[in-house]
Amino acid sequence: MEKRVQLYEGKAKKVFATDDANLCIVSYKDDATAFNGLKKGTIVGKGVVNNRMTNMMMQLLEERGVPTHFVQELSERDTVVKKVQIVPLEVIIRNVSAGSFAKRYGVEEGIAFDEPTIEFSYKNDDLGDPLINDYHALALKLATKEEIELIKTYAFKVNEVMKEYFLTLGVKLIDFKLEFGKTADGTIVLADEISPDTCRFWDAKTNEKLDKDRFRRDMGGVEDAYKEIFKRVTEGK
Ligand code: ADP
Ligand code: UDP
Repeated sequence: MEKRVQLYEGKAKKVFATDDANLCIVSYKDDATAFNGLKKGTIVGKGVVNNRMTNMMMQLLEERGVPTHFVQELSERDTVVKKVQIVPLEVIIRNVSAGSFAKRYGVEEGIAFDEPTIEFSYKNDDLGDPLINDYHALALKLATKEEIELIKTYAFKVNEVMKEYFLTLGVKLIDFKLEFGKTADGTIVLADEISPDTCRFWDAKTNEKLDKDRFRRDMGGVEDAYKEIFKRVTEGK
């Protein structure tokens, strides 16, 4: 399978057409952004980590009953995926307070919740991805009621599978963002990526951050954090 015309260049990935109208190739870059693109930088090797890690997660989730866009890993940075129409909602699941949740509600980071939470952001860079609820999403016709219910069910399932999996690697899954898409036949599948760019991972013993917060917060050790989480995922410990 080969890359044809570039369909899109985003902040972290490029998307290419292929000779199959139902498939595209995503190519992961080392470019990093934060705060809606205001902060820019490079995380050397990130594209490789995020590509490989996403594909491992997608395969694990498929095995556990969550349909995904994953088709085939082509190389370190390139993967064939089902071409989908992205549902313009960022689906965020949280197990522990952090980031915008802590800020918005005036609580400290690190409070473990009794139950995971879910929230949606409207995926719209011009508006700064505003928080949105189910009713607003329906009013804006971003998805149907049935699609929203299915997305919620899948998102909580992803959390159960990933939370348990990362604990076996000595990692707490704090929160993460998912995107879903619709294939040509209308099936809702998990799309985009699952990586240290889109998840918060804390070492279970030390609470050391092993994710993009090290970049967002200028903490240093960014590349090492990506390497460390990748090592645990690939070595299974
Ligand atoms: P952004 O658009 O936020 O800058 P990226 O750099 O990650 O993000 O670009 C990848 C784009 O591809 C995103 O807009 C994402 O929604 C989209 N995408 C992810 N998976 C698929 C897919 N299977 N088919 C089509 N588009 C996808
Ligand atoms: N997230 C993401 N993309 C976004 C916004 C958030 O991948 O555009 C992820 C982020 O990495 C974290 C979770 O979603 O794992 C929750 O992020 P939060 O709302 O706390 O926002 P942030 O602190 O990143 O502004």
